[in-house]
Amino acid sequence: MANNELEPLLNELCLNIKSFLDENSDVTKEHLAEFLRNSAQLISDMSTDTLNSYNTDKYILSDEYKNIAKECLTHYANTSSKISKLSVEHQETLAKCDATHIDLPKITSKFNEIQEHMVDEVSKANSIISQLSSQIKELEEKSNLDPLTKIYNRGALNTYLSEMCENANDRYETHLLAIDIDDFKAINDKYGHIAGDKILIYIARILKKTLRDGDKVFRFGGEEFIVVLNRIKENQCMDIAHRLLKLVSDNKLIYKGDNIGVTVSIGSTKLKVGDTPDAFITRADKALYRSKQSGKNKLSTEPI
Ligand code: GH3
Ligand code: MG
Ligand code: MG
Repeated sequence: MANNELEPLLNELCLNIKSFLDENSDVTKEHLAEFLRNSAQLISDMSTDTLNSYNTDKYILSDEYKNIAKECLTHYANTSSKISKLSVEHQETLAKCDATHIDLPKITSKFNEIQEHMVDEVSKANSIISQLSSQIKELEEKSNLDPLTKIYNRGALNTYLSEMCENANDRYETHLLAIDIDDFKAINDKYGHIAGDKILIYIARILKKTLRDGDKVFRFGGEEFIVVLNRIKENQCMDIAHRLLKLVSDNKLIYKGDNIGVTVSIGSTKLKVGDTPDAFITRADKALYRSKQSGKNKLSTEPI
């Protein structure tokens, strides 16, 4: 493994230290030293395969996106500079006209020429944009991203949890949150399906923004999300889940003049050694069911 491949791990370590300090106001130097020792141990215990997949997962994909975005901007800049040139020509033509000798047929033909150039440039730009959009779609499919919310999809969850279950140990805790939007059918019925889609994007964004870099967010299906929290104690997991409940219920999505309020219910559980991905999710789903039964906008936990 090359030195530069360590960079993402070190970045994540720094972010973990920051959230560790944020969440524990009474941290002593000894706590911090212990935290760093654990992190160093964790890195040295990771296999080369895990490290490589870790890098691929996060960085190759984002580089591809960067390249596409760069290409798109270059084309856009070219088109836009050609259009500016045409508009200069346009102005020059107008300046050449003097009020007494207006050659109307010449002006008309010049204008038509300029118009044709512009249409040509715009249609070239449109075709490049549509090519790039299909490239992005292809990339999303390959990378297991959900096209609507741009978070990982169920396929990615299966792969991720299988690996997680295989490497489960008693040293570090992993927790899973099953999150389901409350009364989503009623929201679709009242505000329309497009508003419903916007709510899904909005919830995915809240989840991504609230979680730490090493945590993962997946769209499990319809209006259900799964969050996997790594290397975390149960009380910290509860804090995060309560923070999510509050963030969602305290905020509203403004869509076409409507303030749409929404809540979610959460079920959580801890990974135990010997769990299959199905068993892990089913336990969290059991807790989620209790949250729904006890009035929604709640967190319940299923013990292992
Ligand atoms: P509960 O509080 O018990 O979870 O009720 P609910 O209405 O959220 O659950 P229910 O299973 O009855 O309905 C889920 C709805 O989610 C129905 C379906 O049309 C909607 N839905 C699923 N996927 C999408 C989507 O991608 N976009 C939109 N707009 N709606 C979706
Ligand atoms: Mg549901
Ligand atoms: Mg629901």
